[in-house]
Amino acid sequence: MNSNFPPHEVLFQYALNIKTAEKVTPTAAGTISGEKRFYNPILDKGNLVCPECSEAHLIHRSVKGASGDHFVRDHFATRPDSKHSAKCDIGARAAKMKDRERSINPELGPFFYLNLGTPKKDYPHGGRPTKRAWISHPNEAPDWVFKVQYARNTFLGNKEIISPELVRRERINPVKDVIAFLKNLTRIHKVETHRQDSWAVINGVAIRLDKMVLREQASSIRDMDEMSIEQFKTENGISASFKIASDKKYDRFARQLNLEQSGILHPVLLHFKIAATPQSGGAFFEQKMTVNLGDYDLEGQKVGRYVHIKDRALFSNLEIGSEFFAIAHPYMSKVNGRVSQNFNVLRSVDMTSMTLQEFRLFLENPKQRTKLRAPATTSEPVQMAIPS
Ligand SMILES: [Zn+2]
Repeated sequence: MNSNFPPHEVLFQYALNIKTAEKVTPTAAGTISGEKRFYNPILDKGNLVCPECSEAHLIHRSVKGASGDHFVRDHFATRPDSKHSAKCDIGARAAKMKDRERSINPELGPFFYLNLGTPKKDYPHGGRPTKRAWISHPNEAPDWVFKVQYARNTFLGNKEIISPELVRRERINPVKDVIAFLKNLTRIHKVETHRQDSWAVINGVAIRLDKMVLREQASSIRDMDEMSIEQFKTENGISASFKIASDKKYDRFARQLNLEQSGILHPVLLHFKIAATPQSGGAFFEQKMTVNLGDYDLEGQKVGRYVHIKDRALFSNLEIGSEFFAIAHPYMSKVNGRVSQNFNVLRSVDMTSMTLQEFRLFLENPKQRTKLRAPATTSEPVQMAIPS
């Protein structure tokens, strides 16, 4: 066999000649010895069908010479106007291969599914949606978050994404925990043009990945009065209702809050540092530890920030000075006029100990796998009072 041939999934080892009931083999699959009946256009042209379902008509494609660097062996293919029976495995595989060939554009960044388990009682105060992500007013959403359109593939019976923003992108490993999330980020980070052009899909909502990373940035206080805030918004195309943080380092948090106020919610990859002793709270079966991230100023309004860690396996890791990356579910609350940004961390697999520097190093050099481990689960049982 010519070694220039790319590895190629052979769909049809042979075809069936409906007139002679012979198994017909493409030349490339042949050996010198043996009793194979090779393709012969005089005998076979117009008479070949799928060996599995006998319904789809096949055509023979001869060896193609160099097209770029690629060679294609002679092979059988489904005649474009012909269909396999609905139960034919070969037909299903053929459709899949065709899909893949047609849709993927490697210049576009990839996307992946974020599968974070079934929502449980994430929102203790009741009445809150338990969906992981949603958009209340899709037409008003920024272009980096949108509702994914699906269609049912009648041939394969599965749902397929048809959103033009995603349909030609490669789909990479689904993410079920923070480690898998970080691994996908390092892969995406390798291609510079993919860094702001890759997506996560959760609950039918697509979010551009660079907008999912929520962390404080280097400090740089903006000293703006009301007039200059207005001017700043006009110059940057920001709507008047969008409130900006007085300190640039909280811009991402301000964006997240504004987003929630306009009815858009999605999980974030939250980086946070523990600066003060976490407070325990929650009901008996919903015990949690709360980490206070401190307030920031949003055009004269103080906004508090809290991380609620709800998996007991993580409690022993919450030491002052330690830093984490976590897949967190944000929600906003307002108590006595005071607005807070809350982030729920629900499962131990959603959080890993990692500093910002380590995160940056890891993006550049993913071989530093030592940093990629979930925090150790606590060996001490958590002391709980028996409710009377
Ligand atoms: Zn078939």
